Amino acid sequence: MEEISYFDIGANLTHESFQNDFNEVINEAKKNNLKKICITSTSIEDTKTSLDIVEKDSDFFITTCGVHPHYADSFKNTDIKKIKDLCIHPSVKAIGETGLDFNRNFSDKKNQIRCFKSQIEIAQEFSLPLFMHQRDAHEDFIKCFKNIDLNVNAVVHCFTENESKFYEYLDIGFWIGLTGWICDPVRGKHMDDLLSTMPLDRVMIETDSPYLLPKNLKVKGRRNEPKFIEEVAKRIADLQKKSLKEVSQIFYENSLRFFNL
Ligand SMILES: [Zn+2]
Repeated sequence: MEEISYFDIGANLTHESFQNDFNEVINEAKKNNLKKICITSTSIEDTKTSLDIVEKDSDFFITTCGVHPHYADSFKNTDIKKIKDLCIHPSVKAIGETGLDFNRNFSDKKNQIRCFKSQIEIAQEFSLPLFMHQRDAHEDFIKCFKNIDLNVNAVVHCFTENESKFYEYLDIGFWIGLTGWICDPVRGKHMDDLLSTMPLDRVMIETDSPYLLPKNLKVKGRRNEPKFIEEVAKRIADLQKKSLKEVSQIFYENSLRFFNL
């Protein structure tokens, strides 16, 4: 059988839950056909930690560089320069994780918007793709792109919404990242029709590890890992009535194209 290749476009590998068995997690990922992982970073400090990991195996890892909306309250204007200094590193392949989260509102909405807009500008200036997070903030999220002639790739990661928002995003030119959320028979149910019929040319898959362990898996503990990305691909393959090989190939090639690799 021909080999399958996976690209996990979003894994939070600097998370403390990976501290004790990091090498084991990566070996397992490689055994399970992972060829590339993009480490999602959530703050400037986190980007530095992420780069330490990336530098050990820069053929396998890439990273994002940016400030998550949860930390927007502590985002200072001087951080713009810090992000710019970091994002010229050859392994930084996207700006993010950035966006708006009005679900948990860990940071003030105005600060989230300011922090997001600054990072959109940096992405444009450095021609880097945007790795974006949006929860319960759809309208304001779209507004942040008003009067912007977006000339970089931009993905809405962990997309969990309905068909109309999916196509609205595609119309703007965004890409879509799907996680193990879609494997949840309850929380992911509303997406089944969309997932069966959606065009795949701007869709990619991710684990968002250690979060969002696919619900169908019976494993010890609740930690998700890159090696479980196959569950996301399988779910889409089933719904699209395509082979796992075919959809995986599409996602892998999409991801290379998205990150300009
Ligand atoms: Zn996110």
